[in-house]
Amino acid sequence: MKIAALMLALTLGQSFPPYVRSHVEERDPSTQCLFWTVPKIAWYQSSAGNPRTQPAGTEFDAVRRSFQRWQAIFSQCGNLSFEEGGLVDEREVGYLPNGENRNLVLFRTKRCMDVAPENAECWEDQSCNNTYDCWGHKKGVDDRLTIAVTFTTYDTNSGIIYDSDIELNAVNYHFTTMDSPVCMPPLITTDCVSTDIQNTMTHEIGHLIGLDHTDDRLAESTMRPSAQTGELTKRTIDSGSASYVCAAYPQGKPSQACIHPVTPPELGPKAAGCAAAGAQAWLPALVGWALLLARRRGGARS
Ligand SMILES: [Zn+2]
Repeated sequence: MKIAALMLALTLGQSFPPYVRSHVEERDPSTQCLFWTVPKIAWYQSSAGNPRTQPAGTEFDAVRRSFQRWQAIFSQCGNLSFEEGGLVDEREVGYLPNGENRNLVLFRTKRCMDVAPENAECWEDQSCNNTYDCWGHKKGVDDRLTIAVTFTTYDTNSGIIYDSDIELNAVNYHFTTMDSPVCMPPLITTDCVSTDIQNTMTHEIGHLIGLDHTDDRLAESTMRPSAQTGELTKRTIDSGSASYVCAAYPQGKPSQACIHPVTPPELGPKAAGCAAAGAQAWLPALVGWALLLARRRGGARS
């Protein structure tokens, strides 16, 4: 099975739907939407956490708060609940045919290009992240601009999700949990907001439950694909993204597919990457901003 780290492109249309569902084929509404059918989604965190989080050791609670925000909406109008499974030593993402397939959250702290040999087989099937416990999914592709990736494994016929794991890029991002003030690059200190974990995770959990990116012009959407240094707005789930929970996972009813009938299983992988862009004079982030704009414009023309 191949796992691809995709930078999801934007589709700029005339209208601005409050949320966009993920499909079996990216942005192809003729294919089934992705959704869970289980009453409980158990999730786990890697016990390794992120040694560089500021303040130290606060990443675990920040991740919990992100799930709790979504849980609050599911409690109001949804048909499933999140269950924290605790800390585990596991370091592999994606669907493991013979594994336990826990829905795992973990931080990668090493670059694959630094730790995986150039001729390693894992580059072929983009599995070096698992083999070498590192960040970087494709040989020669610069992953510095991606804050996190959600790997979702689903049935390609029915869209039913079986497993979803979240990797955070602790190689290139300084993860924090403070509420203020915003770090002013390049003077990142220990007492400011750089890349907020809850902000990042609330967005990634949106992918985990089947949301795709919204139009970037929906400035307050949790599912907007970019984030700037110091951003906290995605911690609060916008009303559009919240309405997805009620519509796709209606309380007392089955989860809603987009195309019927739902046909039997054939597993497929999916990965959603999320890009970041800093607003200040932080060179890599400024480069990222330019790249993102170029991709958006390309999407608008096609
Ligand atoms: Zn994303």
